Amino acid sequence: MDQVTPQEEPRQPVRCPSCLQDLYFDDRQLFLPDPRTNELAPWDPSSEPNGMRRQDQMNRAFLKCPNDSDHPHFLPVPYLLFGRPLTIAFVGQSGTGKTHLLAAMMAEIGRGGLDSLGIRCRSVNTNQHHTFLSQAVNELEAGRVLPSTAPADFVEFTDALLVTVNGQTRPVAFFDIAGESLNAPGKITEFLLGVDALIFVVDALRALRLKQLNPAREAARIDQHKAGVADPTFTTVLDRLPREGGLCNVPTAIVLNKSDVLRFEPPIDHWLREDGPLKSAPDPAEVFRESQDVYAFLTYHQATSWLRPFIECRRCTLHFASATGTSPLLPASANGSLGPSTPPTAFAGGVRPRRVLGPLLSVFQMWGLLDAPGLSAPRLREV
Ligand SMILES: [Zn+2]
Repeated sequence: MDQVTPQEEPRQPVRCPSCLQDLYFDDRQLFLPDPRTNELAPWDPSSEPNGMRRQDQMNRAFLKCPNDSDHPHFLPVPYLLFGRPLTIAFVGQSGTGKTHLLAAMMAEIGRGGLDSLGIRCRSVNTNQHHTFLSQAVNELEAGRVLPSTAPADFVEFTDALLVTVNGQTRPVAFFDIAGESLNAPGKITEFLLGVDALIFVVDALRALRLKQLNPAREAARIDQHKAGVADPTFTTVLDRLPREGGLCNVPTAIVLNKSDVLRFEPPIDHWLREDGPLKSAPDPAEVFRESQDVYAFLTYHQATSWLRPFIECRRCTLHFASATGTSPLLPASANGSLGPSTPPTAFAGGVRPRRVLGPLLSVFQMWGLLDAPGLSAPRLREV
């Protein structure tokens, strides 16, 4: 990963992504993980006389958020030193594949999926990134189904990257929280008020009533009678967002996840065939066409409640994707019969993520992160 240099003084305040408090870098409020226990302990940078070691420790240090009345929390120092961060939250009920999608994105980035666009990424905090790699990315790459994200009573970002484009570096943080937590009112979801972009994850197996999806629903332990029932997290999150002129200004992407279950169905077959290594930044005209197709597909199959983010947000793109490219195996009991309620644990033959970077790049474009000629943000209100 590339070395990057923090922005010059004076440093602007950075909003705490969890509690929305303005944060100022203060070297009297720094903490460093204890190498023996991994617990955070107060750290004074002047205690390290060696400049190279001090810089290395600073890269691993955390700032304590001053707003810790209920939940003490800490932000990695590099998150605070590169200008205004971009925070991206994944929205969807439990089981829609939010964690699988984020893990697939990280895996693609780790394989150099953004290199051809001149986008360089490194972790904001190495330990935090390695934890996500070992708990999610490596497990997914090994073909194992990831467990549901546990509900939390305080929300912190799951992982964060320093993304460098055209010599400019910005922190990008990803929130992947449990669907149950997204439905919680009050302080738990207060972070949504400050989030910079949203990726709404539509579960094809839950949103579409198509009978041909019943075997895949059975394998995923999804009640076929509940297919087509709207995702409550979409409504909860959209109702919470601030509006201007009746519309939300937060850039959004809608992802029809698990599209592989419809890989022979037009126009999904076309878009999945288009998958491959990125040669250039997404062409806004192509993003527009894909968005039109997703919109038309969901509308034709009476899944219009999943289009609410498009209707209520000023900037929204729509995408076909599959975090795993395949459905999980049905578990079998010792005598060979199917387990009646055991959740699937593995993907036969491993995983093959499809088109997972499209929504991320679209959000980057809408946010102006890809500052290059011809990369203007797609405007899709006309769809
Ligand atoms: Zn805070």
